[in-house]
Amino acid sequence: MVAYDLVIKGGTLVDPAQGIHAPRDVAFARGAVAAVGAEIPRGEAAAVVDASGRLVAPGMIDLHVHVFEGVSHYGIPPDPTCLAHGATTVVDAGSAGADTFLGFRKYVIEVSETRVFAQLNISAQGMISAAIGELDDLKWASVPRALETIEKHRDVILGVKVRLSRGQVVSEASGLTPLYRAREAADAAGLPIMVHPQGAWCPSLDDVLAVMRGGDILTHSFHGRSHGILGDDGKIRRSAREARERGVIFDVGHGQGSFDWRVCEAALAQGFPPTTISSDLHVYNVHGPVFDLATTVSKFLHLGFSLDEALARVTSVPARVIGMPDRLGTLAVGAWGDAVVFDLEEGAFELVDSHGQTRVGRQRLVPAVVVKGGKVRPSPEALAAHRR
Ligand SMILES: [Zn+2]
Repeated sequence: MVAYDLVIKGGTLVDPAQGIHAPRDVAFARGAVAAVGAEIPRGEAAAVVDASGRLVAPGMIDLHVHVFEGVSHYGIPPDPTCLAHGATTVVDAGSAGADTFLGFRKYVIEVSETRVFAQLNISAQGMISAAIGELDDLKWASVPRALETIEKHRDVILGVKVRLSRGQVVSEASGLTPLYRAREAADAAGLPIMVHPQGAWCPSLDDVLAVMRGGDILTHSFHGRSHGILGDDGKIRRSAREARERGVIFDVGHGQGSFDWRVCEAALAQGFPPTTISSDLHVYNVHGPVFDLATTVSKFLHLGFSLDEALARVTSVPARVIGMPDRLGTLAVGAWGDAVVFDLEEGAFELVDSHGQTRVGRQRLVPAVVVKGGKVRPSPEALAAHRR
């Protein structure tokens, strides 16, 4: 009798949420995980994925991407760039604000196979054009308009995003006020803030972290510009250690300009790892140096993380951060049926940061088969062909 829609057979399951790193079969029915066991017979499933010699992990969660294609200049389509590469759930980090969120919902969230959530930009226009700083004028940072949008879209908005870079994003007249407005909107809505700190209109990261509380997310944690986690002495700032103590999330947000090997190596040497690993995937880095979330995870394998430590930071930990640990980031029975089968390749792989600095990794995680909602999704090649 066929009990399951699909079974992934013969792989090594790495599921940090359950503390499993062992040979296991995983079966899916009605879109969810239905069984995990040492041996699930082929005959009990309508379809079989052979994962012999491969790793099986929960579908990855990318806490920082930009997928508002056609509206935000950063935007890329999520299905070929995220889902097809094993990130079954993503959070768009502020591409849309109050003026554009309905469009983001209708034309991206509701039509994508990728499960898409969002951080609402405190700037009502969001991240439309490189020619306009989204917080050039404070009138765009409207707390009432952000709140109104959050109330209409609470099912998909997880927090309030603010970017603080002087000049490029925030005018001098706006200063640090957008950070306080993001705080005010998030507090009124009972949500966290997500902060992009580099180049803020204040002396150091201390002033930014002073506004952040447990559950808030500092993204771009290992950037190599001003307002970083390292002091002038190269030591982790006391404000960063205190922020971590009170539960601030230190996220990677690799991006085009926000991951510096030297900063990350110095932080790890001082016992300051990221809480979560995210890609900040967008149009300017999807063809390198980021490529996809799995490549960012591979960079942390090079930095000495175990597979379990690295994969926890794209599965169980972000699932907790977004408040869905029973549904996402695990292949426990009853969770939504999202999985990725990886090849763990051995060799010499050039891994490039946001400053063109390279390291040579010995292992690389390559997503081979992606399952979302209990169904095998098309490969990147098939999706590309479909789009042509
Ligand atoms: Zn970003």
